[in-house]
Amino acid sequence: MTQRADVVVIGGGQAGLAAGYHLRRLGVDFTVLDAQSAPGGAWQYMWDSLHLFSPAAYSSLPGRLMPPQPGQTYPDGKRVVDYLADYEKRYELPIQRGIQVDAVQRDGQFLRVESGSGSWRARAVFSAIGSWSRPFLPAVPGRDVFTGRQLHTAQYRRPADFAGQRVIVVGGGNSGAQIAADLAHETELTWVTRREPRFLADDIDGRILFDVATARRRALDEERTDTGGVASLGEIVAVPPVREAGTQDYSRPSRCSSASPRTASSGPTAAAQRPTRSSGARASARPSLTSRHSGFAARAGT
Ligand SMILES: Cc1cc2nc3c(=O)[nH]c(=O)nc-3n(C[C@H](O)[C@H](O)[C@H](O)COP(=O)(O)OP(=O)(O)OC[C@H]3O[C@@H](n4cnc5c(N)ncnc54)[C@H](O)[C@@H]3O)c2cc1C
Repeated sequence: MTQRADVVVIGGGQAGLAAGYHLRRLGVDFTVLDAQSAPGGAWQYMWDSLHLFSPAAYSSLPGRLMPPQPGQTYPDGKRVVDYLADYEKRYELPIQRGIQVDAVQRDGQFLRVESGSGSWRARAVFSAIGSWSRPFLPAVPGRDVFTGRQLHTAQYRRPADFAGQRVIVVGGGNSGAQIAADLAHETELTWVTRREPRFLADDIDGRILFDVATARRRALDEERTDTGGVASLGEIVAVPPVREAGTQDYSRPSRCSSASPRTASSGPTAAAQRPTRSSGARASARPSLTSRHSGFAARAGT
């Protein structure tokens, strides 16, 4: 049977909830269709140690402040899930869960939203599906013949799953930095990035990024000179675990991974090698790339 709504929002993560809030205020007849069985969107699947870049008050959806998390300046992922669950309840958002939308088709003047659990006819459709459920894995040469485990950020949970193993983290953004910091103590870690990681100063977090991004938007809207925005400051926010990894003792020799030179020639360049706690490690000289692109070590002033 085909159901009707003025607007169908696909996706019940933070973007879908914010859209729902405004649609409700406008008095629009709408429904939110979400593939998950529980609230929280992508935040349900983030790694255990993940913390926001910004204090709670800077992470709020429209209408309702995120309450601070006692003892934490930066709320953790579970806190966000709790907040989103509370938010949709508070505003009584009409969310239908466990609905995977397969297609949106034109249907005369309307749009038809199709899923295995039924279809909806709507005047407008919001797509708020995020990117978490469709992770992008680049075609790195040799990937198909590598016999080890390969996973995307979206599948990573905790360092204990890799304890004592040789692990390469690829990527110099916030996810790469946070996961590298997470794995640094329990694995034989190599962190590989395309260029030298660009850390933001310790006192720059989401609050300042928000202000700087807002100032740029205003400047562009008013046709003033482009201020450069947040990209001019750096990329990696020094959240506490990343900061802590950057102040470790790096004086011990690293274990060498043969993968570094190989990946360096086929795309990304080796950026950082972290010593591990494994005492029986086969010590070898740090690759020269490490001293040029020293990653966490750069923050420790080495
Ligand atoms: C290290 C790190 C730190 C971050 N810090 C912050 C931060 O401080 N603040 C911040 O705002 N963001 C932060 N983010 C990003 C944040 O996680 C995402 O921006 C956010 O989850 C995107 O919300 P969304 O609603 O667009 O998508 P999602 O949260 O991915 O929600 C999309 C929903 O749509 C559903 N869906 C997908 N396809 C379909 C379909 N076909 N049919 C039905 N449902 C579907 C999904 O199941 C999901 O429930 C961070 C991310 C990382 C990795």
